[in-house]
Amino acid sequence: MTKWRIPLVDLEQQYQRIREEMEPALQAVLTQAQFIGGPAVAAFERQFAEFCGVRYVVGVGNGTDALYVTLRALGIGPDDEVILPSHTFIATSEAVRLVGARPVFADISAETFNLDPAEVERKITACTKAILPVHLYGQPAALEALTTLAKRHQLLLVGDAAQAHGASYCGTPIARFGNATTFSFYPGKNLGAYGDGGAVATDDEALAKRIRMIANHGRTQKYVHDLEGVNSRLDGLQAAVLAVKLRHLADWNECRRRCAVQYTDLLRHVAGVQTPNIPEEATHVMHLYVIRVPAERRESLLASLRNDGIDAGIHYPVPLHLQPCYRSLGYAEGSLPVTETVAREIVSLPMFPELTADQVTVVADAVKRYVC
Ligand SMILES: *Cc1c(COP(=O)(O)O)cnc(C)c1O
Repeated sequence: MTKWRIPLVDLEQQYQRIREEMEPALQAVLTQAQFIGGPAVAAFERQFAEFCGVRYVVGVGNGTDALYVTLRALGIGPDDEVILPSHTFIATSEAVRLVGARPVFADISAETFNLDPAEVERKITACTKAILPVHLYGQPAALEALTTLAKRHQLLLVGDAAQAHGASYCGTPIARFGNATTFSFYPGKNLGAYGDGGAVATDDEALAKRIRMIANHGRTQKYVHDLEGVNSRLDGLQAAVLAVKLRHLADWNECRRRCAVQYTDLLRHVAGVQTPNIPEEATHVMHLYVIRVPAERRESLLASLRNDGIDAGIHYPVPLHLQPCYRSLGYAEGSLPVTETVAREIVSLPMFPELTADQVTVVADAVKRYVC
C-alpha cells in the first residue's frame, strides 16, 4: 500500500473546487422543473456555440450519438464510405456503422497521432462520402490539409472533438472547420457533465435543424414526425453542470498545458521516451498527455508506476481495424503500420487541471527511473 495516489484524472477534487457555484445551478433546474430541454439547455447551447466560434450548437445525449445524428443528418448511409482513423475510441467507427456506412481506416502520422492527410487521400474511392478526423488527445488534426482534400474531392468533413473542447488550428477554433464538429461531455473529458452528454457544433442552419429533429424523434411538432428519429437529448441538469464548468474551461485547459510543458521539459531528453510533438499551428488542449516508450518496456513501466501509486493508461491498446468486431472488414495485421506501432508504445500519464507541479515531477521521475 502506498500512502498516496496520483490518479489519471481527479473529478472529486474538481467538484470540491466548484461546489459553491454548482449546487445553486443544480437547485435552479430543480426549481424550474424543466428536465429535458428547457432554458438551461438553451442557455448552454448558446454559450457553447460562442465558445466554439459557431452559430449553432445542438445538445444531444452523448458523444457517440452526436456523431451518429450528424452523419445521418448529412445523408450518409449504406454504400457510403467514411474515412477515419483506426487509432481512436470505438465510438467514432460505431457511429459510421450505425448509419449503415462502411468505415475505411486510414493511417496516422507518428508525429501527431492524428490522420495523415496523404494516407486519407490514398483511401478515397468513388464511394467515399466523408472524412471523419478525430482530434485525439486534444490535439487538432491537420485541418487545413483535410479541408483542402475534402473540397477537392467534394467530400463532407465532420470532426470528432470528443477530446478537444477548446482546441484550435492556425488560431481558428476547430469547430469552424468542416460541416460539423461533435463533442462528448462524458465526465472525464475536458468539459464533462455529471452523466452522459454530447453536442454538435455547426454554422449550417439547415443541418443544425435536421440534427435537432433527428435527435428528438424526428419531430417537427409534438405529434408530427417527418421522419423516424431517435431519443438523444441533453437534459437540463447536465446543461446546468456544463454551463458552470464552461466558465472554467479556458483556465483548466491552460493548467493542463502548463503541466504538459513541465512533463515535456522533464522527459524530453530521457533515452527511450518520446514526448508529444505539437505542430506550431496546433493549440492542443491536453485531454491526455501521451508519451511513447519502447514496446518491450511498456508493461513493466506500467506495472512499476502502478506500484508507486501512479495511474497511467493506454489510449488505445488495440487499434479499431484489428478489433474482433471489425474482422469482416478485412484488415490484416500490418495494414496500418504507424497505427500498430504507436498502439504498442503509447502510455498516457496523469493529466488533469488540478495536477500540481510536484505531482508532475513525481510522475516524470518515476518514468525516468523505470523506462531504462
Ligand atoms: C469519448 C469519445 C467519444 C464518445 O463519447 P460518449 O459521450 O462516451 O459517447 C467519441 N469519440 C472519442 C474520440 C471519444 O474519446
